[in-house]
Amino acid sequence: MVDVERFRMLLQEERGRKLTLLPALRQDITSVNAARHDSNVDDEHDPEGATIAFELSQASALLEQSEAGLAQIDAALARIDDGRYGTCEVCGEEIAEGRLEARPWTPYCIRHTSGRA
Ligand SMILES: [Zn+2]
Repeated sequence: MVDVERFRMLLQEERGRKLTLLPALRQDITSVNAARHDSNVDDEHDPEGATIAFELSQASALLEQSEAGLAQIDAALARIDDGRYGTCEVCGEEIAEGRLEARPWTPYCIRHTSGRA
């Protein structure tokens, strides 16, 4: 039986980190967008435009990842409240504690993780 309270703490810590990070990422995207607008460059042909477009796509990807991560953390906290935390959503087997330590938000055991969180 896993110590859910310990994982609840880990998840809440990680949630706090993400919540701190998200506004900064959104701010980054806003300012890159503003720079792009100001420079009025052609993304396709201007080297600076390509750089800005690249930065924007990097920042957007990071933002998406963080938002998805936050959703996974919220789902994991909900599973703790439901008493379903630490069991695989596919087979219902207990998830190895070492795996939960590495990815406390995962709802899948090692066998059912391929292509998922
Ligand atoms: Zn499983």
